[in-house]
Order: sequence, then structure tokens, then C-alpha cells
Amino acid sequence: MSKANKSFIDLDPSEAKALLTAIGGEPFRLEQIHNWIYKNHVSNWDEMENIPRSLLNDLSEAILLHPLEIIHITGSKTESTRKFLFKTQNGHNIESVLMHEKDRTTVCISSQVGCAVDCKFCATASMGFIQNLSAGEIVDQVLQLERESGKKITNVVFMGMGEPFLNYNRVMDGATRLNQDLGFGARRITISTAGIVPKIRKMADENRQFKLAISLNAIDENKRKKIMPLTETHSMDDLMSAAQYYYQKTKRFITFEFVLLEGINDSPSDGKQLIQHLSGLPCKVNVIPYNEIGGEFSRPDEQTIREFLSSLKNAPFTVTVRWSKGTDIDAGCGQLAIKEVA
Ligand code: SAH
Repeated sequence: MSKANKSFIDLDPSEAKALLTAIGGEPFRLEQIHNWIYKNHVSNWDEMENIPRSLLNDLSEAILLHPLEIIHITGSKTESTRKFLFKTQNGHNIESVLMHEKDRTTVCISSQVGCAVDCKFCATASMGFIQNLSAGEIVDQVLQLERESGKKITNVVFMGMGEPFLNYNRVMDGATRLNQDLGFGARRITISTAGIVPKIRKMADENRQFKLAISLNAIDENKRKKIMPLTETHSMDDLMSAAQYYYQKTKRFITFEFVLLEGINDSPSDGKQLIQHLSGLPCKVNVIPYNEIGGEFSRPDEQTIREFLSSLKNAPFTVTVRWSKGTDIDAGCGQLAIKEVA
């Protein structure tokens, strides 16, 4: 039998059952396999000790277990941030980041190979869009990072490569599987979008329990168009009314991310504008000092960052600052990009 081009982790329960039946395995084996994959984090079929060898041989001939293969890890086991380079079954590369901080272990995962959105300050944009990841590939990043980490992962953020809302169905399926198969509370899973308006409304309508983050980065429409050209299609008014709609419908706070770019959006008057615009909306703001990607932008100096933050002192929303982890290994927000070699 030639190997299927999907992996076992890519199969939905009915496909997995059909495969097992086709090679003569009893249906109860599915639960055992499931436990080996999701509870014991095995790498290979032959690690499944309570399953007959002959069945394992047939399974491994029929199908790969994991859709992704780790090809490189940057950072040693003792470091708080490590970056993982994975290869998909059709030979593309993606990156995911594992971060430990106090009692939190967070994984930052990719939703696409490359990205079509073209934010001017983000390294992934330079790759262009290559392909969507499947739900199985989304789940597998978390599974393999949890195995490599040796610690229970506490939080998952869709803030790696790609625009999750341009791969909406697979991202929602993947996040749902993280919730159901791996037991992550929905509120420990954050999906971050550059602002694909209809999908913000859809997420509210579908009453998805995952957290929503929106990369805002500028209030002024012209300024935002320059750094995030998708604003031509998804205007500030539409974005803000979708955010209001999301809150009205779900009563859940959105986190707005604000990447601070020197001389672009880092003045106290930018801070005041942020307060004016977000005041009517219960939310949080996460300020991310820009991480270097070698382009036209720079990170503001510390004094400017401090002044920007003090302009938000009386804001009606909570403000946090994300000093990205792993910028020394290009694993910080917006630094994930792969030069594909033919
Ligand atoms: N496409 C999604 C998810 C990936 S980007 C989105 O736009 O939200 C994840 C976060 O990293 C976003 O908030 C983005 O604004 C931020 N980011 C991108 N490039 C960055 C950079 N060079 N420095 C700091 N943050 C960056």
C-alpha cells in the first residue's frame, strides 16, 4: 500500500476509523492510539506499546503519524525561548516558538506558510503567501513542542507565521481540537488577526470561546494604510464597528496589539488617539516595541517608549507591554520568515 498524503493526525475521527478498519484493526484500538498521541506525545508508531506489532507495521506502512517533521531547533533546552523549524509533508517550512516564563509555557504557532497580508513591519510578509496549514498541522505544532518542552503547555497563541483569519476554518478546527483532544481551555488559546473584518463578525456569530486579539498598530487611517495595506479593504470604521459587534455579542474583551514603530505611532498624541478611539469599548491593549527585521523601521528608544506608556496612564483599558522573547534568535513577534531554498 502506498502511503497516503495525509498524516494520521490530519484525519478526522471517521477517516481514522475507516483507515483502521481497512487494515483490519479493531475499533477499540483508536482510543489507545489517541491516548498515545495526545497524552503520551509519541513520535512514532512503534512507541505504542500496547498495540500489536503487526498492526503497528501495517499502520506505519499505510500512513505517517505526524504531518510535521522537526528539522532544526534554535536555542538549547535550558533557554527560556526556543524556535522550531518544521517541514510539511510537501516540503515547505514553518516556524513555531516555545517560551517559558515563571509558571507559564506558551507556544506561538503558525497558521499558514508565508502570509498574503503584507504588513510592512513583519518579516513573514517578505515570503508572500505559500499555502494554508491544515488543522492537523496546527495541532501538531503544539503536540511536538509539548513533547520537546517536557512541560505542560499553558497557553497557545496564533501569532506565528500567517493570517489566521485567511485560513479561518482550519484554524477554528485546529483550535477546537486543541480544546477537545489536548484539553486546552478555550481561554488559553488566542487567535490574533491583522483585521479581517467579516471573520471577526463570524467568530462572534459562531460564539467561539477562544480569545481574540487584533493587531491595530495605528488609529489614523492613512497611517495604518501605509503600514498595513489591508486597511484599504478593511477600513478603520469597519474594523472598529466589527470590534464593537464582537464585544456586544460575546461580552468578551478583545486585546489590541500595538507595535511601536519609531517616529510612526510612538508619540504621546498617538497614545491620546488610542484612548479616544478605544474608550467606548471594553478591551486591553498590548504594546509591542518593534523587533528588528532589517527594514525601514526602528524600535523607539526607551525614553520614547516610557513617554508613550505614560500617555496611556489614565486609559480606561489595561495596558501591558510585551518585551518579545527570543529576539536574539529572530523568534520575537514578526521576526518569523524562512528563505525557501529550492
Ligand atoms: N497575522 C496575525 C498574526 C501574526 S503577527 C496578526 O497580524 O495579528 C503577530 C503579532 O506580531 C501582531 O500583533 C503583529 O502586529 C506583531 N508584529 C509583526 N511584526 C512585528 C515586529 N517586527 N516587531 C514586533 N511585533 C511585530
